[in-house]
Amino acid sequence: MDDRIRQAIDFHGHLCAGLTMGVRAARVALREVGPHAADEEVVAIVETDMCAVDAIQFLTGCTFGKGNLIHRDVGKNAYTFIRRSDGKAIRVVTRPDGWPPHDPERGALREKVRAGTATEAEERRYEKLRDERALAVLDVPEERLFDVQEVRVQAPRPARVHASIPCADCGEMTMETRIRRSDGRNLCIPCFEHAEAR
Ligand SMILES: [Zn+2]
Ligand SMILES: [Zn+2]
Repeated sequence: MDDRIRQAIDFHGHLCAGLTMGVRAARVALREVGPHAADEEVVAIVETDMCAVDAIQFLTGCTFGKGNLIHRDVGKNAYTFIRRSDGKAIRVVTRPDGWPPHDPERGALREKVRAGTATEAEERRYEKLRDERALAVLDVPEERLFDVQEVRVQAPRPARVHASIPCADCGEMTMETRIRRSDGRNLCIPCFEHAEAR
């Protein structure tokens, strides 16, 4: 296993098939769209917020804080990568049979581990099966994992820095684009919602 994958596991907290699926998707992105994004040159739009996204953030450099990782919450294991310079974009969609096959033993053990009723031996057995399943993903031919298509999408505008002003109720500094007006006062969203509920 190469160092970058090891670091991605550390970043995510555990090894799982979701993470390694993300590693594979990130490899497609790095190859087809561009190298690790130190700036905002590459934008990722992810359609899930599950494990895979941590590998995508870590390996592609598209991150929430830079504004070039966008969660479009539609619950699909699909990822779009856009290169700003020339607009090249691909959508990587996990195939229905892309996930490793279901293993009843692993499933039953997982239930026990989650319920807190697994013995120590069962827990170790579960972790072994989970790790094997995750690592197997690294060797599956790419065309079995994903459908990859070039798409035409507009990259969102680069993140802009906005001024902050204090909320008239709580006094906390709030980005001006998030300020709501209520009875002529500038309120942050939580204070606005509170005021409206009264
Ligand atoms: Zn995970
Ligand atoms: Zn407030």
